[in-house]
Amino acid sequence: MAEFSMQLNEDQQTLKDWVHGFAENVMRPVAHEWDEREETPWPVIEEAAKIGMYSLDFVSNAFSDKTGLSMMLYLEELAWGDAGLCMAIVGSSLAVAGIMANATPEQAMEWIPQCYGTPGDLKLGAFGVSEPDAGSDVSALRTRAIYDEKTDEWVLNGTKTWITNGGIAHTHVIVASVEPELGSRGHASFVIGEGTKGIRMGQKFQKMGIRASHTAEVVLEDCRIPGNQLLGGKEKLDERLARVREGKKASTQAAMATFEATRPAVGAQALGIARAAYEYSLDYAKERKQFGRAIIENQAIAFKLADMKVHIDAARLLCWRASWMAATRQPFLNGEGSMSKLFASETAVKVTDEAIQILGGYGYIREYPVERWHRDAKIYTIFEGTSEIQRLVVARAISGIHIK
Ligand SMILES: Cc1cc2nc3c(=O)[nH]c(=O)nc-3n(C[C@H](O)[C@H](O)[C@H](O)COP(=O)(O)OP(=O)(O)OC[C@H]3O[C@@H](n4cnc5c(N)ncnc54)[C@H](O)[C@@H]3O)c2cc1C
Repeated sequence: MAEFSMQLNEDQQTLKDWVHGFAENVMRPVAHEWDEREETPWPVIEEAAKIGMYSLDFVSNAFSDKTGLSMMLYLEELAWGDAGLCMAIVGSSLAVAGIMANATPEQAMEWIPQCYGTPGDLKLGAFGVSEPDAGSDVSALRTRAIYDEKTDEWVLNGTKTWITNGGIAHTHVIVASVEPELGSRGHASFVIGEGTKGIRMGQKFQKMGIRASHTAEVVLEDCRIPGNQLLGGKEKLDERLARVREGKKASTQAAMATFEATRPAVGAQALGIARAAYEYSLDYAKERKQFGRAIIENQAIAFKLADMKVHIDAARLLCWRASWMAATRQPFLNGEGSMSKLFASETAVKVTDEAIQILGGYGYIREYPVERWHRDAKIYTIFEGTSEIQRLVVARAISGIHIK
């Protein structure tokens, strides 16, 4: 057993410094502009691709860190740079996680590289579960996938909503129902490649925050895909459905398997925003003078900053623990993944709110980044499972009772 240490090793420190440099020099200077433009920041993604940060190799390397920390460090630094730009860079990884969770090794080899592309020929991925009437309640999703035996094709129909990179992605991973009477246990994941007929972008949404990240509806109309684009393959699906019909326990549902693994990663991004706001307001509180003294000399302000720091450090520990557990394949017996996402996202909302308070009027105007950080932070308590759903996961895990 390796000696316990909470110190970053040399590789981790190098990674952290490298991503921090990118966040500081490439992301921060253009963050305000892309927030205002509310468009996909292709030049920023291109810069990340050029240095190898937006690539399959980079993500595989980060995932191969058995401590689970590399991913945490990477995401915290990127979101420290800017959360909207960060989502534009890492949004494709949701599709990758959706593929990883369900694909055969051959499917993973074929489709994951297509979520990134190469510098000069960038590609994006999208992961579509949510629908207008199926948000937290994934079992209510209505998108249907019907198998056409004659042509060995799946035919998909339905509308997905609020999809990151939806309709502009080159690869869409779509969760659909193959057997509606089985609820979420009758779901399966499908991968839809570039240029496929019958898939298109619906409405593009204007948002409160993370505005550099594209969010839109994805409409599927008689979208036909080859049989081998069912992730995991038909044989495995048929076996799973047979087990469910016999009343036996089926393996984790398609969508849930993806969300479980990505929660600490969402927490790490929220943490990055919180740290940005904390650092900025700490500096400001030392500079800003009222009543002849720096405002930090007032306990009312200093205690806010102390609480902000405590919450940020506690959130980081929860994220790192969950990521370490996931990397070492330990089950989240107490909902540790949910704990990390819940606490980090609520910390980000609270810390950015306090940061605005510390800046006073300056905190409320767009010339300063703090109001943007607050707008950005809020989504983290909503997507990939709302705070209420995270509490439900933890409450059920610790009690063994199916709390409603
Ligand atoms: C910017 C953005 C990006 C997104 N990206 C993606 C994406 O890439 N892919 C994707 O599939 N989805 C995506 N989503 C969708 C997101 O995951 C959903 O919005 C989220 O799961 C919540 O669903 P909902 O909005 O329908 O809220 P609802 O489920 O309708 O919830 C509304 C309120 O009721 C509460 N509530 C619901 N059920 C319960 C319960 N049982 N107990 C207690 N409280 C409950 C919720 O916590 C919430 O407060 C994105 C959303 C946004 C805004």
